[in-house]
Amino acid sequence: MMNLVIFGPPGAGKGTQAKRLVSERGYIQLSTGDMLRAARSSGSDLGKKVAGIMDRGELVSDDIVIALIDEQLDTHKNAPGFIFDGFPRNLAQAEALDALLAGRDTKVHCVIRLGVDDEALLKRITLRFEEQGRDDDNPTSFKVRLNAYNEQTAPLLPFYESRGLLKEVNGMESIDAVAGAVALMLDLG
Ligand code: AMP
Repeated sequence: MMNLVIFGPPGAGKGTQAKRLVSERGYIQLSTGDMLRAARSSGSDLGKKVAGIMDRGELVSDDIVIALIDEQLDTHKNAPGFIFDGFPRNLAQAEALDALLAGRDTKVHCVIRLGVDDEALLKRITLRFEEQGRDDDNPTSFKVRLNAYNEQTAPLLPFYESRGLLKEVNGMESIDAVAGAVALMLDLG
């Protein structure tokens, strides 16, 4: 059983690397961003509630994302591992994740940070906006997202580092090279 938090700013390649681990190791990817986008396309009340917040690039409330993760942990009871992608985004969520896992007799085993500089992030997001048209990839929302990352999410780095869980990977390399480095980190434990 492996519980991995894949960590990094928007555009760092968290989703791409999570998907590699899904296909190579059978882990379950728990992306709160994907779950919220699915809620939006289904037209549910939750989707309607979060649409504006997401498009502006702000964080939705902790209760919402914590409940989504709680539900998914129950849905995939026999998973060989979970990859938390885009969650936790702040200290309250990190503490909630610890509690959710502790309640299932497990814990966070590893946190991998994908390091990518701001200039490269902006380039990637601009490209993704052109290719996929994701509303929150526009330059204005991207600035808000990056700001939310720097102010609310980055403070989790010392939180995990002080527990000896944090591993750094250079996210500027090719997808394959990053995947190789991530695999090494996981196998080294
Ligand atoms: P992402 O795909 O992870 O970049 O998430 C897209 C958007 O969904 C974010 O900009 C937030 O509005 C929302 N979101 C996703 N995950 C979280 C989270 N853990 N906490 C709060 N908001 C989130």
